Amino acid sequence: MRIGIGYDVHRLVEGRRLILCGVEIPYERGLLGHSDADVAVHALMDAVLGALALGDIGKLFPDSDPQYKGADSMKLLDTVIGKMRGKGFSLGNLDITIITEKPKLSPYIEQMRQNLAKAFDCDISQISVKATTEEGLGLGGAGIGANAAVLLE
Ligand code: MG
Repeated sequence: MRIGIGYDVHRLVEGRRLILCGVEIPYERGLLGHSDADVAVHALMDAVLGALALGDIGKLFPDSDPQYKGADSMKLLDTVIGKMRGKGFSLGNLDITIITEKPKLSPYIEQMRQNLAKAFDCDISQISVKATTEEGLGLGGAGIGANAAVLLE
């Protein structure tokens, strides 16, 4: 068994779509980034790569590379899952915490879990996605952060 952790933060700006775990969430702002800036999937990919000791997504998908401009992070995740399988591993379970003051994410959590279960081709019981605020003490609405932990078998 191998464990991995990942962490990411992106800034919230006007004129961008807000996408978390492949779910587009209606909101007045979205996350800024070279790709679609799906901060939760970025943290998750770093956790999987960390478990495999394969570096991080900055190394795998450099933001200086135009082919990743506007990239669908769920597609990048497919590449990372391919690397995981190539090393002979499958997902034991994963756990993600998304950190944001707004918007409320509870209506979208199940769809996020389903998207990830489909990507890993696993049971939804292996996928946990949670959301928390920082009581106004952290990013304070300037951005969204995410932590991820994975166990690979
Ligand atoms: Mg990122």
